[in-house]
This record gives sequence, C-alpha cells and structure tokens, in this order.
Amino acid sequence: MSDGCPHLAYRTDGDGKSFDVARAFCTVTDSFVQPMRADVCTARYGLSPADDCEFYVTPDAETDGSFAGDE
Ligand code: SF4
Repeated sequence: MSDGCPHLAYRTDGDGKSFDVARAFCTVTDSFVQPMRADVCTARYGLSPADDCEFYVTPDAETDGSFAGDE
C-alpha cells in the first residue's frame, strides 16, 4: 500500500466546521477533504497526491504560503 499525502490530517474541527468523528483534512487548503478526493489523498487505486491533486505542494514549499498551481 502506498503512503498517503503528507498534507493529510484527521481532525474533528476546522474550516468552520466540527464533527464527532475525525475526518480527512487537507493542511494545504485548510479544509476538509471531499469524499471523492479522499482516494487521491490516501493514494488508493494507484492514485498519487503529487500527480493527481492540484493542491499538492512539495512539503518543503508548504511554508511559503503559495498553493501549487500550474507551474
Ligand atoms: S487535497 Fe491534495 S494536498 Fe490536500 S491532503 Fe489531499 S492529496 Fe494532499
């Protein structure tokens, strides 16, 4: 099994919402992950966060405050 995205966290609150059970949360977008994207975040089915997610940034670049775009 592949490793999931390094930006994936599990939180019970964030983005103005709270839940009883921890949900997948993206620390790049600061929002909860939509269910259809969760397979990318967890690198299931051969998906790759780095290749298949437009929000993905290399971990070292995360602190500059910019989102990964079409570079
Ligand atoms: S949305 Fe993209 S950047 Fe965020 S956790 Fe998922 S794969 Fe990683």
